Amino acid sequence: APRPLIAGNWKMNGLRAALQEIETLRDAVRAGHVGSVDLAICPPATLIHAAVQACGGVLSIGGQDCHGAPCGAHTGDISAEMLADAGAGLVIVGHSERRTDHHESNPTVRAKTEAAWRAGLIAVLCVGELREEREEGRETEVVGGQLAGSVPDGATPDNLVVAYEPVWAIGTGLTPTCEDIAAIHLFIRGELVTRFGEAGQGIRILYGGSVKPGNARELMAVENVDGALVGGASLKATDFLAICACL
Ligand code: 13P
Repeated sequence: APRPLIAGNWKMNGLRAALQEIETLRDAVRAGHVGSVDLAICPPATLIHAAVQACGGVLSIGGQDCHGAPCGAHTGDISAEMLADAGAGLVIVGHSERRTDHHESNPTVRAKTEAAWRAGLIAVLCVGELREEREEGRETEVVGGQLAGSVPDGATPDNLVVAYEPVWAIGTGLTPTCEDIAAIHLFIRGELVTRFGEAGQGIRILYGGSVKPGNARELMAVENVDGALVGGASLKATDFLAICACL
C-alpha cells in the first residue's frame, strides 16, 4: 500500500497567527511524534510562502486551487507556477466548494490538474457525490464521471492524489459507513488501474468529509483508504496530530 498522506485544507481560514499551528506540526515531526505518514497543509494563498518558511521542510505546503493558465489577465486567480514559486509542493483541484461556488466543470478541473503538473506540483483531485445522488444510489456513476472527465492522461503516484469527499459529509459531522467507503474506494482504485495500469495501484486515494480524531482510526483502517483530506479538524495542530496518530 502507498505511504499514507494526511492533508489539511484550511479553506478560507487562517491569519498570520495561525502559522503557529504549522510550527507546532513541524516540531512534532522533528520530535519523532509523527509516524510513517506524509503531512501536508493547504493554507490560504496569503500564508503559503510564510508557511513554507515555517514548516522547516518536514511537511508539504499546498495551494487550495490554481488557474489553468501560467499567467495572464485573470484578476484574482493564482497560477500553479505562482504556487510552486511560493514553495508549494501540491495543490487541491476540483474541491466541491470550487465546483459549487465557482461552477467548476470536469474539463476545468482537468485543465487545473494539467497546470499543476506543468508546474511540478502534485494535484490532489477531489471527487464526490451530492446527498441526493447518494440517495438515488448514483454515487459510483457520479464519481466515475468525475474521474473520467477530470483526470488527465499520464497520472502517476508521484503527480496525483485522489480525494473522495462526499459533499454531504463535508462540514456536517456525517460520514459514510466504513462499508460504503470501502466500496467507493475500491471502485476508484479499479478505475485508476483500468486507466493507468500498475501506476493506478500506487496512486493515493484519500477520504475526506468530517474526519476527526474520534473517527479517524476506523476510517483510516478501511481498505484502499490511503489517508485523509481534513477540513475543520486541520485548523488546530493538536487535532491534526491526533488524526495523524490514527494511522
Ligand atoms: P471537513 O473535514 O471540515 O468536513 O472538510 C472536509 C473537506 O472539505 C476537506 O477538503
